[in-house]
Amino acid sequence: PPDVEQLGRSTWTLLHSIAATYPTTPSAREQADLQTFMGLFARLYPCWVCAEDFQAYMREREAVRVASRDEFGTWLCRAHNAVNAKLGKPAFDCARWEERWRTGWKD
Ligand code: FAD
Repeated sequence: PPDVEQLGRSTWTLLHSIAATYPTTPSAREQADLQTFMGLFARLYPCWVCAEDFQAYMREREAVRVASRDEFGTWLCRAHNAVNAKLGKPAFDCARWEERWRTGWKD
């Protein structure tokens, strides 16, 4: 079975990279594709307890938001923070998700 930590780091890289390249003004088709992708992702993620909790997050806390890059990126950051909280990791400042994943840190 995959290593849950290694799988997690790789997967967050993929998901935040999808957010970073998602259009600022996505078409209806692009929005539907991302919605479908995230729903299937949450069912297929190969860490079953992780997947169950992530599905519950989307169902009970905040449904996925796909109307723009900013909306999806911020939603994903909050969802990642919910996992961080569960694991006792520090929260990430969601005002800076694009700096981390798209434009690079402004130091
Ligand atoms: P990661 O959490 O993997 O983060 C990678 C990098 O992303 C960080 O170094 C930081 O630069 C950046 N980052 C951190 N937080 C944010 C944020 N909020 N927004 C944007 N960027 C951020 N592990 C479990 O043990 N139990 C679980 O139930 C579990 N559920 C998971 C559910 C999902 C959907 C995913 C993708 C992973 C899950 N994991 C779970 C794995 C866990 O989240 C971590 O990936 C793993 O513990 C490795 O953590 P890390 O400290 O290397 O950083």
